[in-house]
Amino acid sequence: MQDTMRMARQNWAEIAGEIEGLFAQLWAVPELPAMEFTSSDILCSFMERHGIAVERGAFGIPTAFVASVIHGQGPRVGILVEYDALPALYNDAVPYRQGNRRKPGHGCGHNHIGPVNTGAGIAAIKTMKTLSLPGEIRIIGCPAEEIGWGKLALQAAGAFDGLDVIITSHGDYQNGSLARPCHSMASGEFRFTGVSAHGGKVATRNALETAEAAFAAFVRIKDEIPGLQLKHVYRDAGITPGVTPEEVRLWASVRHPDFTVVSEGYRKMEETFRTIAGERNVDFCAEQIASCRGYLGNDTVGRVLDDCIREVGPPRWTDDDITWMTELSSACDPGAPFDLHREIDYFDTGIDYYGQDDGNVSWVVPLGRVNWAYPNNVPIHHWAWTALSGHSSSSPGALMASETLAMAAVRLLASPKTVEAAKSELQARVEDRIITPPAPTITDVLVKDPQSFWDATWSR
Ligand SMILES: [Zn+2]
Repeated sequence: MQDTMRMARQNWAEIAGEIEGLFAQLWAVPELPAMEFTSSDILCSFMERHGIAVERGAFGIPTAFVASVIHGQGPRVGILVEYDALPALYNDAVPYRQGNRRKPGHGCGHNHIGPVNTGAGIAAIKTMKTLSLPGEIRIIGCPAEEIGWGKLALQAAGAFDGLDVIITSHGDYQNGSLARPCHSMASGEFRFTGVSAHGGKVATRNALETAEAAFAAFVRIKDEIPGLQLKHVYRDAGITPGVTPEEVRLWASVRHPDFTVVSEGYRKMEETFRTIAGERNVDFCAEQIASCRGYLGNDTVGRVLDDCIREVGPPRWTDDDITWMTELSSACDPGAPFDLHREIDYFDTGIDYYGQDDGNVSWVVPLGRVNWAYPNNVPIHHWAWTALSGHSSSSPGALMASETLAMAAVRLLASPKTVEAAKSELQARVEDRIITPPAPTITDVLVKDPQSFWDATWSR
């Protein structure tokens, strides 16, 4: 096994420079979920340069891709790749607020996840081929993570079928392997359609006031469901107070550790909105966008990643990296002491704050994830995360994760017994629950006309 691991690391080291170069390349072309045409092309070309055949537009999704190398019978290892950006989070790669606030930006650092995970897959495939290791490495390009849709659509299309284990990575606030849950979440767009009117006349069937009343009503109901988090934006709510808008679109999401609470909360939200709309004679339409379980932790996979990441060692930040991140941290959190996790730990207790669209998959295929740390003072989904993601001080953590995944993929491939143990652990954790991943309903819109989704003009 030592020689196998050494070769994985060597194959990874040979492309480390290329991986790092791609961080900046993706960062420079931030694309909204389901519109990652350039970003997915960059990553597909990366694999093709290394002699790996890629299917672009895989599973009927234009910005998805898959590269699979199968070599006889053995563990089938999936590596998930993400590359979408977030709306209105652009910032120049400087340690202060500067840049076009309307442009998308990599405020979640998926410009790293793309090259990190793809590069790990390339190194693993090269090692697999040289050593004739039996099994499969499947690199899956997953669009639109940020709206919780991409992996739901991929799962419904069979992208993860037959896999024995899945690994992935993300930048966050800690260096290490995770075997703990995150939040379950569901989101949807709710459309209220009334009658347009002059703002000075008494308007009946007022879509905006109805949407606001409906939301306020659900806020009161939500308070009776302990721990349920509610977030919302109005996507289309008029332009001038002089014109009562005919249509208002409200995008709302609920989060909770427990998927059954999320599902019930979402159902109550939709029911409340529908009731208030009905009382005010306003037309109502609900479109669910996402519905994801939180991660099911898997200690067996988690320990494999933990072994690998400890061998790689913590991120090798330079003094200049630390100076730059300290400056950025001060811009976000003036006066607070600089706070960065610099060791490696194992995370199998507690719960993470986010929801992930691979949550559902983790209940069907054992899934492990490694994180790399950014300063605690820098908020994620914030302009500063975009700035950091475009600066070289964000590279050491991401490279650590990439090398870890390359090693872990090969190690899983070479350890059928460990993979079987991971599957048994999943079965034991799922118990007798029946896991039916909810199929997303808006796939046709995001496949055929994703721009209409972002313009808030779409309908089905
Ligand atoms: Zn993310």
